[in-house]
Amino acid sequence: MSLIVQKFGGTSVGSTDRIQNVAQRVLAARRAGHQVVVVVSAMAGDTNRLVTLAQAVSSQPFGREYDVLVASGEQVSIALLALAINEAGGKARSFLAHQIRLRTEGVHAKARVASIEAPILSDALSQGEVCVVAGFQGMNERGDITTLGRGGSDTTAVALAAALEADVCEIYTDVDGVYTADPRIVGNARKIERISYEEMLELASMGAKVLQTRSVEFALKYLVPVHVRSSFDESEGSWVVAEDYEMDGEVMEQVVVRAVTCDTNEARISLIGVPDQPGIAYKVFRPLSEREIVVDMIIQNASREEGRTDLTFTVPKADATEAEGIMHDVVEALGARGVKADAGVAKLSVVGVGMRTHSGVATRAFEVLSANGINIQMISTSEIKISMVIAERFSELAVRCLHEAFELGTDT
Ligand code: ADP
Ligand code: ASP
Ligand code: MG
Repeated sequence: MSLIVQKFGGTSVGSTDRIQNVAQRVLAARRAGHQVVVVVSAMAGDTNRLVTLAQAVSSQPFGREYDVLVASGEQVSIALLALAINEAGGKARSFLAHQIRLRTEGVHAKARVASIEAPILSDALSQGEVCVVAGFQGMNERGDITTLGRGGSDTTAVALAAALEADVCEIYTDVDGVYTADPRIVGNARKIERISYEEMLELASMGAKVLQTRSVEFALKYLVPVHVRSSFDESEGSWVVAEDYEMDGEVMEQVVVRAVTCDTNEARISLIGVPDQPGIAYKVFRPLSEREIVVDMIIQNASREEGRTDLTFTVPKADATEAEGIMHDVVEALGARGVKADAGVAKLSVVGVGMRTHSGVATRAFEVLSANGINIQMISTSEIKISMVIAERFSELAVRCLHEAFELGTDT
């Protein structure tokens, strides 16, 4: 008998009809002889609604009470799904994070999973029950409710799959797999049959929201096979696995470019005329990391004037106001000339493991953007990725052009 963790996203549990549909899918897996742990998100739109309520009464809501509020959406959906499974003849029990001792560390609203003690789940499974677990939520060392950042139910699911040593973690969503680009932007995007953890990690962290980045980190660390698939049909989805993982006797095909993605949730912050001295970068970035603000791209320009330099970096848009405020203090402390923030940017990325051994991908990407009159403001590369910051208004055009230039689409 195998153990499957199934995660259903907000759209998949967006109405009572859909919850009944999920109940049927779960029961089908039980009938096929599997033990099943189901992780669910809040019903579609619920978390957004709760965030809006918090923002209506507070200018800085992202603390303890924010998490108490936004975690409540998942309490509704687990109870409804457990009721629906029981009504359909199955045996199910719902669990909140504190009941499975899902402990987190880090700050509220973007806590990280630290540990899970799930004997209660093992007991329920051995009694033939389906465990329905609330995604997105955890509990910190003080026993307070925390949340794992938007899209965090993916991480709950993969972390549970790792803790329970499940055979597979199935992510059921409103697309039938991971595509070569967001199918809502590129009409002829192609479904990827298999993608490596490293590629998926780059794609997720660069804006492909089909999986939360931390869920892929867990999958990579504990080698959990992840199957991203549709909750509306039975089709085979995309497998996120190790590069050398064999399926049907074959390892995955190596391609130079696997996918193109775009992140419009980043803002660019520039510090102008910073004194060019040892220790400056540390003084700039330490207060950001103390607030757990994730800085992505960083560029330090060659000095334009003797002894001064400009420093530009990107942060999530949600943290931009706070980061800008921190930078105003830094400018004053360091005697720099000023701060500029621009939220109207997008980060465009081209990802593929084949880039390790092929050159010319960056040049081709630059050529395509130049041919379309799109200015590149920042560039960064890793072994398997090239990222470029451009004006946000060009983001969809740029994704389509790169997708076409690298011939990623299906023939139309
Ligand atoms: P859920 O509510 O099920 O967690 P999400 O909205 O978080 O679903 O993620 C699914 C969405 O991710 C899709 O509807 C799609 O628009 C978007 N997406 C972005 N990039 C990709 C990609 N490369 N492949 C598939 N989906 C993508
Ligand atoms: N309900 C949460 C959100 O909307 C978590 C999730 O859907 O994964 O972000
Ligand atoms: Mg999601």
